[in-house]
Amino acid sequence: MNWKEESEKYKDAYLEDLKALIAIDSERDDEHGSEEFPLGKGPAMALKKYLEFGQRDGFKVKNLDNIVGYIEYGEGDQTLAILAHADVMPAGEGWHTDPFSMTIKDGKVYGRGASDDKGPGLAAYYGLKMLKDNNIKPNCKIRFIIGTDEESEWTGMKHYFDVEPAPDFGFSPDAEFPLINGEKGNTSFTIKFDGIKIDDSKPSLTKFESGLRENMVPRDAFATLTGISDADKIIADFDKFISNMPVEGDIASKNGNLDIHVVGKSAHGMEPKNGINGGTYLANFISNYQLDKPSSQFIKFISEYLHDDSRAHKLGVNYVDDIMGELTMNVGIVKFDAESGGFINTNFRYPKGVSVDEINHNLQLCAEKFDGSVENISNMNPHYVDPSDPIVDKLMSVYRDQTGRTDSNPEVVGGGTYGRMMPRGVAFGALFPWTEDTMHQADEFQPVDDLILAMSIYGQSIYKLSCE
Ligand SMILES: [Zn+2]
Repeated sequence: MNWKEESEKYKDAYLEDLKALIAIDSERDDEHGSEEFPLGKGPAMALKKYLEFGQRDGFKVKNLDNIVGYIEYGEGDQTLAILAHADVMPAGEGWHTDPFSMTIKDGKVYGRGASDDKGPGLAAYYGLKMLKDNNIKPNCKIRFIIGTDEESEWTGMKHYFDVEPAPDFGFSPDAEFPLINGEKGNTSFTIKFDGIKIDDSKPSLTKFESGLRENMVPRDAFATLTGISDADKIIADFDKFISNMPVEGDIASKNGNLDIHVVGKSAHGMEPKNGINGGTYLANFISNYQLDKPSSQFIKFISEYLHDDSRAHKLGVNYVDDIMGELTMNVGIVKFDAESGGFINTNFRYPKGVSVDEINHNLQLCAEKFDGSVENISNMNPHYVDPSDPIVDKLMSVYRDQTGRTDSNPEVVGGGTYGRMMPRGVAFGALFPWTEDTMHQADEFQPVDDLILAMSIYGQSIYKLSCE
């Protein structure tokens, strides 16, 4: 079968279905969660829409408690799984089109979910539909599984793995091409510090605020110092600091208080080197001054162990694996309030060869020196599928054939995809290397040609995995 020609025939039907999916605002909505719709109505409606397509096209479908569901084809001892998601990130500001009304402009599909993950997920579904419409009988069971909480806690997909038998192998069309066969471990820690009794006569830190999420490099950082007697000197030092360091900022003094603002550069936390951490730079600046003990413990810990050290050398957990690369650390949230105390949220992406206990232990030792306490708040172990596994081999060969990119190779990333839910699971598409990544952004788009090519790649891939 000529998969490219075949998928062209489905273009109009595909775009019509995609329009219906994008029209549903399927952001997780806890505020309106109910027993019937635990994640809110939107994610469940998008799931139902997928299942309606499946039913319409003659597949067996099942909805598991409105948080996950599947579309099934074929029979056999083994199960091939395709893991997609129907939920979306909040639309946010800055769109030039209605995010929930699919718009095609200059050959591109605009709308929330166009590239993450309604466009790619539906392309994979159409890949499966092409098999069925052409009466191709697979020699295993194929399940297209739709999660509804990928952007937060994977509630739906985890539920599937709790109540259904685990699939034997598969892929998730929820990342990029060519293929991701390795994902670093991902763990987060909170380091807590006690508060202080404010004594206006002594220099102390009354407020420190930086960062929104543990997996983002914070751009802005704000701090207030009180009880300052040498404000003029600090202001002069700050101007020098700004001119010597890769940050900007401003400082203002008001009745013995100093308000300091540092501006770095935000970036995704999986590669902190792409950003400039406003928070740790500000702590580093403040560490030059004598403050009361609790303030200075908090500031010194950041300055000595976390600042400008994305590979965590100072904590002693730096590590490089030949295949999976370097351990990275992001200092995502830094907050201090004189009364309630302070906390720092750090996120580590680590290759095989490092354990979360090791990171925990070293962090503990360093934090104790400054009376901080450490808590591990989440962890996912590293995931790696050998490139010689047929799941990698077959998918790569289809990708190379259909794109002509014969020199492309599987990749290891710091992010987490549904692929890691199966020992033989990978992420496969649908963002092509030649297309801009607009996932989670305003004006999210995916070129129509990319989506149809993805459909063709998925069709042939499912065929190779289930029939050969
Ligand atoms: Zn996604």
